[in-house]
Amino acid sequence: MEKVIIIRFGEIFLKGKNRDYFESLLIKNIKTALGEFKFDFRRSQGRYFVENYNIADEAEIVDCIKKVFGVYSVSVAAKVKTDFENGFKTIKDIAVEEAKKQKCKTFRVTVKRADKRIPVTSTEIAADIGGAVLENTSLKVNLHEFDFEINVDIREDGNAFVYFGVELAVGGLPVGSSDRGMLLLSGGIDSPVAAYMMAKRGMKLVAVHFSSPPYTSDLAKEKVVTLRNIANKYCTPIKLFVVPFTDIQLQIHEKCPSEFMITIMRRIMMRIAERLAERHDCKALVTGESLGQVASQTISSINCTNAVVKMPVLRPLIGLDKEEIMQIAKRIGTFETSILPYEDCCTVFLPKNPATKPKLDVVEKAESVLNVDELVEKAIAEAEIL
Ligand code: ATP
Ligand code: MG
Repeated sequence: MEKVIIIRFGEIFLKGKNRDYFESLLIKNIKTALGEFKFDFRRSQGRYFVENYNIADEAEIVDCIKKVFGVYSVSVAAKVKTDFENGFKTIKDIAVEEAKKQKCKTFRVTVKRADKRIPVTSTEIAADIGGAVLENTSLKVNLHEFDFEINVDIREDGNAFVYFGVELAVGGLPVGSSDRGMLLLSGGIDSPVAAYMMAKRGMKLVAVHFSSPPYTSDLAKEKVVTLRNIANKYCTPIKLFVVPFTDIQLQIHEKCPSEFMITIMRRIMMRIAERLAERHDCKALVTGESLGQVASQTISSINCTNAVVKMPVLRPLIGLDKEEIMQIAKRIGTFETSILPYEDCCTVFLPKNPATKPKLDVVEKAESVLNVDELVEKAIAEAEIL
């Protein structure tokens, strides 16, 4: 029996004159997500159809499609001949077979009939198919509160799709529809979640990671690459810059008061990120900060880091609790990697008493002993692209 994957997308972004643009992005992103599989793609009547794939790949294909922002739901359907003359026999057989597997109590049949040559209404067809299920199983009909739904779409070409409910996908807007952002990607729990949240609203991401070898290991860097690779499934491929940060940290450690170490580090990270952002056509910076989570994430600290950049800094996690962030990390599959215990550059030379309310003028003065421009230039020149 032929199988077809039906993809439904949100209507919200399809209004107005951007429709073609949004759709072309969405189709491109779906095809990118399915890059490793063999399939045909078809657009028809406001839906997409993935066909002629290997049945062995089906579960994985569905999983990939459900991660593409802009996709709202997916169903795997059997494509059969409508076969009105034989009383919809094939459709009934499939429906009954699946219904027999159900452990629940109630069902309904929902029919859409595009083929108006068939001289019975969709309600009559639903009652006919429902009758077959009632006869062969112990399920009861409940049109409003049902545990199991049998969907039958009767197409104009003599074929019908039979499927059982819909699987919700991630929703959101197609990646690429909301400009580009430069993500500051650490190896922690938060920043991969921040990537997910911005990509969900259509932002295409480029990422920068600061690493401090030999204080941070190759494993720490590999961990960030793994996080990027997991995020790619949702965000479309993310180009990753790894910027050496050891010299900068050593100099801050040596020359600046330890209580401002983190604030000054952050300010330099932001400058480097903004420079890279400008070169790569990004219009915003994205971080995984959440208000009050640590000393560097108070409003005073944020004020000190914002002061060195002109671009908007987007902090999609600002109002979330750690618990909520962890739940998203688990759902999107980054959590297990994020908690691997490798050093992050921020934990190297961590001061005992970081300032929780740094004052901008005091920080600027403390920082003035460094040749910041030179440090920034050098770090960018040594950046590695992965
Ligand atoms: P995360 O879980 O994302 O590491 P965190 O709770 O550890 O966040 P911080 O270490 O204060 O918080 O980092 C705040 C944000 O700064 C991170 O979410 C990230 O966007 C950025 N950041 C921190 N360290 C790095 C790094 N080594 N490379 C790139 N960005 C970083
Ligand atoms: Mg961190």
